[in-house]
Amino acid sequence: MKKTSLFLVLLASLPLVGQTLQVTPQTHDALIRLGGQLMLDGKAYEYDRQLSDEIGPRLTGSGNYVKATEYAKGEFTRLGLKNVHFEIWTIPATWEPESVGEARMIKPHHQRLHMESEGWSLSTPEGGVRGEIFHLKAATVEAVTADADKIKDHIVFIDGETMRNSPSQFGKLFDGLNALTTSGAKALILGFGTTNNAPSFIGLTTFNGSLFPLAAGNLGQEDTLLLGRLLKEGPVEVQFTFKNRILANVPVNNVVAEIPGTDASGEYIVIGGHLDSWHPGTGAQDNGTGASSVLAIAEAIQASGLKPRRTIRFILFGGEEEGLIGSVNYARQHLSEMDKCVGVFVTDSGSEPPKGWYTFGRSDVKDSLKLIEPLLASLGASGTTDEGDLTFETDEAPFLIHGVPSLVLWTPMDKYWGLHHKPSDTFDKVVQRDLNLGVAVVGVTAYAFADAPNSLKHYSQSELEDELKSIKAIDEYKDMNDHKLF
Ligand SMILES: [Zn+2]
Repeated sequence: MKKTSLFLVLLASLPLVGQTLQVTPQTHDALIRLGGQLMLDGKAYEYDRQLSDEIGPRLTGSGNYVKATEYAKGEFTRLGLKNVHFEIWTIPATWEPESVGEARMIKPHHQRLHMESEGWSLSTPEGGVRGEIFHLKAATVEAVTADADKIKDHIVFIDGETMRNSPSQFGKLFDGLNALTTSGAKALILGFGTTNNAPSFIGLTTFNGSLFPLAAGNLGQEDTLLLGRLLKEGPVEVQFTFKNRILANVPVNNVVAEIPGTDASGEYIVIGGHLDSWHPGTGAQDNGTGASSVLAIAEAIQASGLKPRRTIRFILFGGEEEGLIGSVNYARQHLSEMDKCVGVFVTDSGSEPPKGWYTFGRSDVKDSLKLIEPLLASLGASGTTDEGDLTFETDEAPFLIHGVPSLVLWTPMDKYWGLHHKPSDTFDKVVQRDLNLGVAVVGVTAYAFADAPNSLKHYSQSELEDELKSIKAIDEYKDMNDHKLF
């Protein structure tokens, strides 16, 4: 008896709880071929190098972003994929720093501050903005109303202490931040930077790619702590100048390509990730690793000569960092064929040795993954997690809310959070072996879904809500609906 057939006997004897994918011997052989191709001759590392080193930071709608879309479209075409095209949507504003900002403390003494303009916020007036700082207690409408006198004509300082008293749900948080825009505040300082006084962008001032109508500085960690201490002693005055290039209503492209399926069902799966990045680094990790995974899996399937049963649709989204705008628009524009989408696989968690998948509480997905567990275990990635905190953090979300089985690659993200949206997110941090492991996990799992003789059903609205309740993401889902994010 060959080892493969022993494995298949074991598969057949697994109890089937609910609905589970089937993995045929032919699919199993294809998964081994694809996994081997991706581990031994995968191209993700080189794709990531070209995206991050040669194209550079890819702010949504910027010149570099456009270059990256053309590069990806060119690669999909060169690889012989079908239906390679752009899908257009419009972002309310694009944003790029035009020149290096300048910031200093004036009172209680003169000192240079390490500050950059926060993305999607205004330039300062000519000559800069100058004023005394007010430390906001909480980013809520109530806190802004209560301290209206102290906010007026001041520069509002928001730091970790403020955030601890603020809502964790995006929509409610934006309500608080929006209240500041009509409060008479001169500008904002966001103290979320990391050590060595590096800025760290969390996209707090943009909602669906709209512009925040105040200037906002993003301050390094040591300077943030200094201002926090000095504010306890007495008045602190600062001055800063930013010049940003802002354009209104700019068309942005997602990049789409397909490997057609051999059956006529019209069903498809999506392998996706966001192509855009923040600007202080080159987005090698967030999300060069994810975008390069999408390209590398397309390359490896073509190189292996595999023909999946269902169509595999590869999508590189824009606007993720400004609120999942590219994937939200994609889902809206493809609602009529959403019932044919039988799996979405997204990578947005960097090049760390993968642990498995975020399955967002779906037992049928977890049961199905058990069928390829020995293969995923050999990559160190047979685990699943139902932590719900990342449910609405990346591009699987607009599909998940329509009941589509949606998975996100699970890595420890230990290195990730230290680089995320910071100047240090550069190609030197990417480890080729770790990246290949993650790409192989995505490629093998997605191909199993694409090639199975059956597919998992969509969750109904009530099943979806039960799923989100079970992973404690239901409040955030309701908040997103209330604020019409999707
Ligand atoms: Zn990302």
